[in-house]
Amino acid sequence: MTSKPIPVPQIRGHYTGGHEWIPAGESNLEVYSPLDGTRLGGVPIAIPSTIDEVVKNANTAFKTWSTTPLKDRVQVLFRFKTLLEKHHAELADLIQVENGKTWTEAKAEIDKGIEVLEFACSLPQIWDQGLLEVSTGVSCQYERYPLGVVLSIVPFNFPAMVPMWTIPIAIGCGNTFILKPSELVPLTAVRLAELFNEAGLPPGVFNVVHGTRETTEYLIDHPGITALSFVGSTKVARMVYQRAANLGKRALTLGGAKNHLVVVPDADPEITAKNVVASAMGCAGQRCMAASVLILVGDTGTILDQIVEEAKKIKVGEDLGAVISAAAKERIEGYINRAEGAGYTILLDGRGASVKGKEAGTYVGPTLIEGVLPGDECACDEIFGPVLSIIHTQTLDEAIAIENSNPYGNAASIYTSSGAVARYFSERANAGMVGINIGVPVPREPFSFGGWNDSKFGHGDITGMDGVRFWTKLKKITTKWTASASQNWMS
Ligand code: NAD
Repeated sequence: MTSKPIPVPQIRGHYTGGHEWIPAGESNLEVYSPLDGTRLGGVPIAIPSTIDEVVKNANTAFKTWSTTPLKDRVQVLFRFKTLLEKHHAELADLIQVENGKTWTEAKAEIDKGIEVLEFACSLPQIWDQGLLEVSTGVSCQYERYPLGVVLSIVPFNFPAMVPMWTIPIAIGCGNTFILKPSELVPLTAVRLAELFNEAGLPPGVFNVVHGTRETTEYLIDHPGITALSFVGSTKVARMVYQRAANLGKRALTLGGAKNHLVVVPDADPEITAKNVVASAMGCAGQRCMAASVLILVGDTGTILDQIVEEAKKIKVGEDLGAVISAAAKERIEGYINRAEGAGYTILLDGRGASVKGKEAGTYVGPTLIEGVLPGDECACDEIFGPVLSIIHTQTLDEAIAIENSNPYGNAASIYTSSGAVARYFSERANAGMVGINIGVPVPREPFSFGGWNDSKFGHGDITGMDGVRFWTKLKKITTKWTASASQNWMS
């Protein structure tokens, strides 16, 4: 963890390109660092007239940007990538200070964002417009077109990576883009906007509107916005999807998760223990891909003891960051209190954690709850903290049944040294992303990111070729090249 003061950009308002910031004349929310409670500044809440102005600018920019050749559009993305690499450490500082995760985790999320950016830089190489002669002298062809002004609403837990799932692909495809960051972590978005400007992105192509629920609802309903993506909790993802769909807008909304890791007796004890703990405790458990339930099948020997030992090694405030807020800490500790009250064994207790010199920080230590029953709240709810609930079963089928009965469907993993067992599990797991001896099975690009069930509403994944499909629409063109050609059935 860093101890030097980190320069924090002040939010001058809402961003609409160039050196333009629409002044933050509206009400402000205060932003505090989860690391030590330091006040970081105020985030303005956009009012309708501000949003109207941003949408108007984005709409004006769309006319030029959408007709700029793809090869030229991606040149800006190449320059943006160079700038992200140049400012890598500074961005990691910023993410750490506003989100509370460790510096290493902050750096890794930028790397993951850059991976999607690299995919978008390759759009000219993978652009899939097709043409086929369908009858003598007649061809059918399809072309991809951008959708217009599009919106992306993002959560607090990945201030750079989650926005980067959508920005480069949507912009690369020729859309103009409005980002609505989480009001808890608004600063990284400001820096991304500044870097886009430095990369030469024309004004109005990338915009940032700050705000909360009302801001988001006004944006979703805005007639000037054609499509949107959302990443956040399932409750809101479902509402946003329904709201957009009612308006006939294209929407892809990603929700929460409750990811299960299954360990069978032939798993490698050391590798499994390290990996399970890293999955559950990394980013203080505030990942939609974090392990939340561990299912030990049959006699797994010393693996649970080794997991406890691994988790005990974690130093809060050094290799485990803060949770986002005091409210989050209280909510997470509430789950541990109730699990204790229900008679479960708390093998490792993270309640009351604090870091010397950062007493106003919001920390929860690694927590392991043993012998949980499948229907209990800590086995079912998304706790979103460094808490792992441990269930025992006699058979792999029982474990799979428990995993499959949870309403979410982001990730499911198995630890085994048997290929046949791994295949048996991966074919049956009811999740969009499956791990074999991997606790955070986020696919590397171009393999796309996306869960199933209540972890996602809408069709397709958010990255990879599905991202291209989501942010574009197809036009089909049928041509009779020789008007007199008679040997075909086309009228
Ligand atoms: P959240 O749902 O509270 O907020 C997400 C965004 O929606 C924020 O920008 C917020 O301002 C806005 N918002 C909040 N309430 C709203 C409402 N009623 N109407 C419209 N907009 C609203 O989520 P969060 O707490 O910021 O993030 C944590 C959640 O995100 C977890 O559930 C986590 O699993 C999920 N998440 C999912 C993925 C995924 O890929 N499936 C990735 C990251 C995070």
